[in-house]
Amino acid sequence: MVVRHGRSTGGVASGDLDVLSAEERRRVAAFRDPLRSVHYATAHAEVRRCLAGILGCDPARIRFGRRPCAGCGRTGHGRPYISRPRTRWEFSLSRSGPHWVCAAAEGVRVGVDLERVRPMDVSSLTPTILSAGERRHLGGVPPEFRAAEFIRCWTRKEAVVKASGIGIEAELGAIDVDPGRAGARVNHRVTGCEFDTWSVTDLPARAGLMSAIAVPACS
Ligand SMILES: [Zn+2]
Repeated sequence: MVVRHGRSTGGVASGDLDVLSAEERRRVAAFRDPLRSVHYATAHAEVRRCLAGILGCDPARIRFGRRPCAGCGRTGHGRPYISRPRTRWEFSLSRSGPHWVCAAAEGVRVGVDLERVRPMDVSSLTPTILSAGERRHLGGVPPEFRAAEFIRCWTRKEAVVKASGIGIEAELGAIDVDPGRAGARVNHRVTGCEFDTWSVTDLPARAGLMSAIAVPACS
């Protein structure tokens, strides 16, 4: 497993645009907010360089595709994969503002999520997103830590649904990520995915950020 993270410094580094695909460059140009455009370009260029280092190829030559969504079968929002060069390496990318994290594993499905810890009205969000056990856990946490604990749950769930390939259609409240434990075994079954138990780990916290990674529990 390879995990890399970084942040965009607010400007496009030399060579970043050169390694992006035509589609990625189109997306860079389409952002209305120039900063978001830079964040996207930096993260995607860095991920290409990271994967190119693993695969021993030119970062600009990597091609990505999307597997069919485990929920609806469409390919627009399924799990991304490396379509060229042919490889067993799987990867997952998550971005939040200028920050990005990428995880890659050989022959192992992986999902990663990164969120900024921010103040939020947790009570309005919990009923749809948290399981009963997670709500109990949150109720036992001092109020000043509740938003952070909520985001811990959120990143773990997002990591699981990204690994399973169902993405945005997942019922997050049905996934229990056992936030009281340092790492969790999580049951989450979706049609078309051969795995139903996931091993979820929080990545080391960085200032103001929380992230988690999920892989099938058997791997
Ligand atoms: Zn879908």
